[in-house]
Amino acid sequence: MSDITLGIIGGGQLGSLLSVAANKLNINTVIFSDDKNSPAKNFTKNFISGNYDDEKLIKEFLSKVNVITYEFENIPYKILKKLNEIKPVLPKPEINKLIQNRYTEKDFLNKNNIRTTRYSLIKDEDDIKINDGLIPGLLKTCTLGYDGKGQFKIDKKENISSEIDFTKEYILEKFVKLKKEISVIITRFGHQRYEIYEPIENLHEDQILKHSKIPAQISEKIKNQATNWATIIAEELDYVGTLCVEYFIDNKDNLYANEIAPRVHNSGHLTINSHNVSQFENHIRAVCGLEKVETKKIYNARMLNLIGNDIKEYRVKSFKDNEFFFDYQKTEIREKRKMGHFTIIEKEN
Ligand code: ADP
Ligand code: MG
Repeated sequence: MSDITLGIIGGGQLGSLLSVAANKLNINTVIFSDDKNSPAKNFTKNFISGNYDDEKLIKEFLSKVNVITYEFENIPYKILKKLNEIKPVLPKPEINKLIQNRYTEKDFLNKNNIRTTRYSLIKDEDDIKINDGLIPGLLKTCTLGYDGKGQFKIDKKENISSEIDFTKEYILEKFVKLKKEISVIITRFGHQRYEIYEPIENLHEDQILKHSKIPAQISEKIKNQATNWATIIAEELDYVGTLCVEYFIDNKDNLYANEIAPRVHNSGHLTINSHNVSQFENHIRAVCGLEKVETKKIYNARMLNLIGNDIKEYRVKSFKDNEFFFDYQKTEIREKRKMGHFTIIEKEN
């Protein structure tokens, strides 16, 4: 093992896969999760569980690690900031604060001349009625949403669900007729130093990612715009580590940035098998200050997310040598829960 120990906050599949990548680079990990049954406990030698604001646990975590990263964006800024006073937290806590709120995130994109869907901040029902130009639209909680959670379709201004809790803030986004969704994953190592993956084409079902593939079937123009925007975002944020930009493409071939994930991303799981360096390894290399290795595609690939009961069939299946099954080892199968994934690489005969 090297003398670096990486602290990872969050114990889901992203934390698990980060830990596996770190261990391959001889880096120890300590995973801190608020769920004692986190799948990541199976993928690290050091697992700490309890509330993220537990002073004793924070102290223990800090004493064991040299550098800290996180696998999800919904960590209170206060906590990341406090940790960062003692040990470096990467990406910087301020970046997470900006991105964890959909409203400040979209404002940031527009300030940098990156196109998004039209949107408005919504505090009550009247705000929806005033913004009827955004209907049909999607109402999304500004914070804490993922996999379509916290989202409401608004078809008519007269039809506003009574389930909407207006003690929270929302944005209303104009509904885009999607031709395609793509994502771009980039790892920034410092000023103008990047490794960037080609755009990945994504298919969602019920607002949850179902399939990803490379190459994406898109025009050269869209490909360049999507990669340029991702580079501008990473540079403008002074980002260190891997980030993902999710994009929409509409019927007229307009590109819109949908959201930024300040972390490794589900659509990038195929990079484990398609590239010489995965999105996870690049993230570890960047945050731990290791050498940047030129990242190259070896195979085209497709990935399928195994959601809920899908996993059962795969647990007993046998696989060909171009097929790779990942079981996140979650203790309980739940509907709409990502349980694992399956990647197929295209090997030439
Ligand atoms: P989450 O944080 O849950 O991933 P997203 O904003 O990415 O939230 O929404 C999840 C999915 O819902 C998107 O990938 C897309 O398929 C669909 N979606 C979200 N916003 C819009 C929109 N404005 N127009 C059309 N489809 C949308
Ligand atoms: Mg999304």
